[in-house]
Amino acid sequence: MNNSTGELRFAADRMLGRLARWLRVLGCDVICGPHLTGYGLIRAARQENRLILTRDHRLKQKQPPEYILIQSDHYPEQLRQVIETCRLKIGAPLFTRCLECNAVLQPRSKESVEPSVPPYVFATQENFSWCPKCQRVYWPATHHQRMMEELRKMDILLPGN
Ligand SMILES: [Zn+2]
Repeated sequence: MNNSTGELRFAADRMLGRLARWLRVLGCDVICGPHLTGYGLIRAARQENRLILTRDHRLKQKQPPEYILIQSDHYPEQLRQVIETCRLKIGAPLFTRCLECNAVLQPRSKESVEPSVPPYVFATQENFSWCPKCQRVYWPATHHQRMMEELRKMDILLPGN
């Protein structure tokens, strides 16, 4: 594990779905799902050498590997805690991973996404990415802007960023 966001790998418990999505926005590799709780979470973290993120105070009785006990119920606070604890750097590259399934996005040509995106998006966007796992299409320019605004609202980005 190190300080470069792209290489940090997390296993988030099933209570932390929104936090997981936001960490993916920042480029982190985060697994999260209904099976990730208790020993299932510990097993997945061990197998894939991931840092555990959990709200479960009782997890420590199960002798987990390294973990962060998330303090807040609110995702902006949760995100701030992880950013501070892991000293995550925020900036490029944003949007390298699918927010839904954590797969690494791949660039797609404009022509190839025409059937999958709304006409106004096709007309106004030039660059598209695609999730090879769930086939979602992303248009990074718009998503990037919206996410940066959200991060600013959460006080996670300074105005100059
Ligand atoms: Zn996906």
